[in-house]
Amino acid sequence: MPDKADERVSIGQTALSQFNHAAEVMKLDEEFRVLLSIPFREVRVEVPLRKDDGSLVVYQGYRVQFNGARGPFKGGIRYHPHVDMDEVTGLAALMAWKTALIDIPFGGGKGGVNVDPRDHTIYEIERLTRKFISRIGRVLGPYRDIPAPDMNTNAQVMAWIMDEYSSRQGFSLAAVTGKPLALGGSAGREAATGRGVVFCFAEVARLEGWDVAGMSAAIQGFGNVGSYAALFLSELGVRVAAISDVSGAYYSKKGVDIQKALDHVAASGGLEGFTGADKITNEELLALDVDVLVPAALGGVINRKTAHDMKARILLEAANAPVTSIGEKILDEKDVYVIPDVLANAGGVTVSYFEWVQNIQQFDWEEKRVNDELKKIMTRATQEVHTLAKDKKIAMRTAAFIIAIERVAMAEKLRGI
Ligand code: GLU
Repeated sequence: MPDKADERVSIGQTALSQFNHAAEVMKLDEEFRVLLSIPFREVRVEVPLRKDDGSLVVYQGYRVQFNGARGPFKGGIRYHPHVDMDEVTGLAALMAWKTALIDIPFGGGKGGVNVDPRDHTIYEIERLTRKFISRIGRVLGPYRDIPAPDMNTNAQVMAWIMDEYSSRQGFSLAAVTGKPLALGGSAGREAATGRGVVFCFAEVARLEGWDVAGMSAAIQGFGNVGSYAALFLSELGVRVAAISDVSGAYYSKKGVDIQKALDHVAASGGLEGFTGADKITNEELLALDVDVLVPAALGGVINRKTAHDMKARILLEAANAPVTSIGEKILDEKDVYVIPDVLANAGGVTVSYFEWVQNIQQFDWEEKRVNDELKKIMTRATQEVHTLAKDKKIAMRTAAFIIAIERVAMAEKLRGI
């Protein structure tokens, strides 16, 4: 039976225990342990929203700036009822390690509002976004803190953020990334996280000598990250046996036709009614006998129960913090090969960095350049993590954290207190 504590996932606790474990292994100086485990700034604001029918709802909005020693804070904004200070802080910490690991000149931040966008019209989401940004705007900026899309936010939301910020500060494309192409967005940004997941996986497979063409995968989540990861994995020759979204999971032993699933989603908004596969439950998807499991949705889905039932030998973390602390222990005992989130899903923020660079230079790159540069960064970071993990006989997550913590600690030290 899953215990209650494990089910109430604390992403803040997960991120902190991952940090503490790496700090222990690398024997991090005590002062840095304190400095690097506490966020720089936490902002919480009230976000009132007048609905189209005239009634009022009040949400909570958050922005946490975890560490900015290496550059402006960077990280997404999510809209989800689970959003709270604990979750946003944990995700902000992961952004700080992620940007340091892939060595782009940013710190780590995260934000969100505890709203379920399915409860609202697009006009309400626009008003909510503007209200939220008007209240946290003073801590944002191209050289302070740069938001981006995350769960349930998209290019349109980023356009509203850009407009709201610019209405006070003057036209500022570089204040937010993940914008629409027609408004300073970058070619390749939308597919970047999923593409990066697959660049990372392909490089691990090359280093390990795996034959990807003979492998099978199950992907949980068919949003921005999961759908592109599914597409690029299938292009690599991996048989994608199952996909899922809020409507349920869809399984086909011989492999789901991903292009067909994408067309279905484009036409109807979700996988509901998709006929190219058999319907299974989300739990069944997580326990499928495939080579690779790819969580690409909510955090904490690999917990005591699902880790125990999991049969895949490789966990490719496309989502942020998909494994709870207890889940991680079980995966460790089962010797599951974990390719950690801070590495695997870093492609999104990498192309956000390219977008920011293009906005500042007012010079647009072609998509091929974006994808080539993304591949370089993902491949180099994957090799660094893999080498350290092998040399020190430690998990890839621990290796990734050690590399990131060393870089952030060095920047802190050079800048001084
Ligand atoms: N939300 C994405 C992440 O978790 C992207 C963040 C960004 O582009 O700043 O990595």
